[in-house]
Amino acid sequence: MLFKNALEKKNYKNIWVIAELEDNSINPVTLELLGEANKIAKTRKCEVWCIVFGYNLDNIINSLKRYRLDVILVVDDPDLNYFVDELYADLLIDLIKKYMPEIILAPATYRGRSFIPRVAILIETGLTADCTKLSIDPDTGNLLQTRPAFGGNLIATIQTGNHRPQMATVRPYVMEKVLEDFIQNKRIINEETNPLFKNNIKRIVETVKDKKKRIKLTESHFIISGGRGVKGREGFEMLKKLASLLDGAVGATRSAVDLGWIPYEHQIGQTGLTVQSKVYIACGISGQIQHLVGIQNCDCIIAINNDKEAPIMKIADIVVIGDLFKIIPEIIKKLEENFI
Ligand code: FAD
Repeated sequence: MLFKNALEKKNYKNIWVIAELEDNSINPVTLELLGEANKIAKTRKCEVWCIVFGYNLDNIINSLKRYRLDVILVVDDPDLNYFVDELYADLLIDLIKKYMPEIILAPATYRGRSFIPRVAILIETGLTADCTKLSIDPDTGNLLQTRPAFGGNLIATIQTGNHRPQMATVRPYVMEKVLEDFIQNKRIINEETNPLFKNNIKRIVETVKDKKKRIKLTESHFIISGGRGVKGREGFEMLKKLASLLDGAVGATRSAVDLGWIPYEHQIGQTGLTVQSKVYIACGISGQIQHLVGIQNCDCIIAINNDKEAPIMKIADIVVIGDLFKIIPEIIKKLEENFI
């Protein structure tokens, strides 16, 4: 929305977080966005609203009340039981026009990536996709939206200076979760879906779960990741053995994936997953920026590399200089003998 004068800009206030629901529970990314929204709200001296679309939402609302936020705006409707991007977008646009939020944060998930750009285009405002960091300029109220650009070679900070609301989608697993709140008495606003929006929309009749075993990389405390230094599929079998002894998961660099040593769903980094494990063991990984953006929130990074000058050695908490084909079998042996 383009302004004729600065006064109009001042009419927009509060920060909205678009909740993501999955199997009638709150996807953790929602809590991460609420955490970030609270930090920004402190500077802007405004409210944090959580926007929830779905069906049979009583449990969801009760769970959300436990967290630091001011308002829960709910649209509870059987037609919102399944995600339909056009319907969700029309609904959000309607609410934006009514309540005029200053900032909207949405998860950079399949859903967020699908309907948030539609909203931004239709209300003619800016959107920064896939942010990894947010802050606020206290003088202008502009949201400083940081994300990797140009293939990860640059980290760009983008502002939406002339339009409101300011919209950003944010990568899961990069922000801290919101704290719980003692005051559970939150303001609840119930809204309805405009029946006009329901005309001509596609309807989802049934959803079928993918039966393929999911790799729980994003939930694992231990990740053992391999790069080109692992030399092939056999090397990854060795990493899988170590991972199973540690009850962890196996990750990989894009190079290893491109070489066909391990499937894409294991790829970590800018064009793969972002992970947040307690321990991340990088085996034969050089540590290029495109890989590092995916592991920056891991608590402890252990790098095993035979090149002490490799970039990963500069950011790792523990470095092991040497041949991974000698070091990893030794760790496996000790674990099997219960020495560790
Ligand atoms: P290399 O850089 O070749 O490093 C191999 C390392 O193994 C070296 O440090 C070497 O010293 C070490 N080594 C070799 N033998 C041994 C041994 N026996 N013992 C111990 N160490 C050994 N990359 C990602 O990972 N994820 C992404 O999402 C991603 N997205 C990208 C997006 C774009 C647009 C672009 C342009 C690139 C992207 N990349 C991504 C690729 C990235 O730039 C790097 O090329 C890649 O991460 C390097 O992978 P690597 O560390 O496995 O290989």
